[in-house]
Amino acid sequence: MLYNQVQDLKGTIRVYCRVRPFLQGQTNGQSTVDYIGENGNIMILNPLKQGKDARKVFSFNKVFGPTVSQEQIYVDTQPLIRSVLDGFNVCIFAYGQTGSGKTYTMSGPDLTTEQTWGVNYRALRDLFQISKERADVVKYEVGVQMIEIYNEQFTLTTYTLDIRNNSQLNGLNVPDASWVPVASTQDVLDLMRIGQKNRAVGATALNERSSRSHSILTIHVYGKELVSGSILRGCLHLVDLAGSERVDKSEAVGDRLKEAQHINKSLSALGDVISALAQKSAHIPYRNSKLTQVLQDSLGGQAKTLMFVHISPEVNSIGETVSTLKFAERVA
Ligand code: ADP
Ligand code: MG
Repeated sequence: MLYNQVQDLKGTIRVYCRVRPFLQGQTNGQSTVDYIGENGNIMILNPLKQGKDARKVFSFNKVFGPTVSQEQIYVDTQPLIRSVLDGFNVCIFAYGQTGSGKTYTMSGPDLTTEQTWGVNYRALRDLFQISKERADVVKYEVGVQMIEIYNEQFTLTTYTLDIRNNSQLNGLNVPDASWVPVASTQDVLDLMRIGQKNRAVGATALNERSSRSHSILTIHVYGKELVSGSILRGCLHLVDLAGSERVDKSEAVGDRLKEAQHINKSLSALGDVISALAQKSAHIPYRNSKLTQVLQDSLGGQAKTLMFVHISPEVNSIGETVSTLKFAERVA
């Protein structure tokens, strides 16, 4: 393989670490984040350990501290989003224990305030804006799909409106995939509200459930170059993963234990795939989970992957924080 290609591939998996701030009412807590350096280093202080074992440094492409805004987070994500309109497939994952800020990064706390919008809505806004700017050169169509994977099954495949036949779509192998053509970010916001309403569960139950399922928002882009007639296809998958916390086997029983095992299995399958890709392994084990099967066409090859790993600063999260960072270092 040519040197340049190796270099390109090397740049296709990125890992960013984001530290959640202390939540209201706990601002005086002791933080396990000792130090955030330049060049993607973060030093963790484990209060349960003594001496030199208490401090450990982890390295990523970037580390975002607790005061970094949604806008700043997006600045470093934007080039990937733009490449979708050039025909690339991109996957963006949010990984971390429940409560560490995954949904905050991907969706944001509140849809009504643009300033706190997460990556999802900023990405859509960008995609629509750029496609308008290029309208003289390329005619784009955009479709979205939302699915949820719970206990290794697809539990929510939304919307049945579809203007084009599915053979023209790529990047996602979901049976009975249904797609919605959308023309603006507002369309997507409206769809999401309908989607939320359609789910016959209350807000608390939804939150509970969402921490145990993977939710995937896929934005499909289909572009036709007006002069040459050539076709571009790109796909953006925005994935809010299930909480990565380990469940105490002695406490979890029945459904809860089953859920935990499924989550465990699929997150390790994802870790295995990404680290096999990072090491350019000959065999990539896509078949070990629904999540990696579904995203197969968008992981590896020319596709680009970004993983946001989230950590909570509280001392009582230290165990999960360390295992999250270890997971992340493995795929970095
Ligand atoms: P997760 O999806 O990982 O379970 P959430 O995104 O729901 O976690 O975040 C848990 C809580 O912390 C929420 O109340 C959220 O608004 C808040 N939060 C998370 N990240 C941030 C942040 N960067 N800045 C301010 N609040 C945050
Ligand atoms: Mg969440």
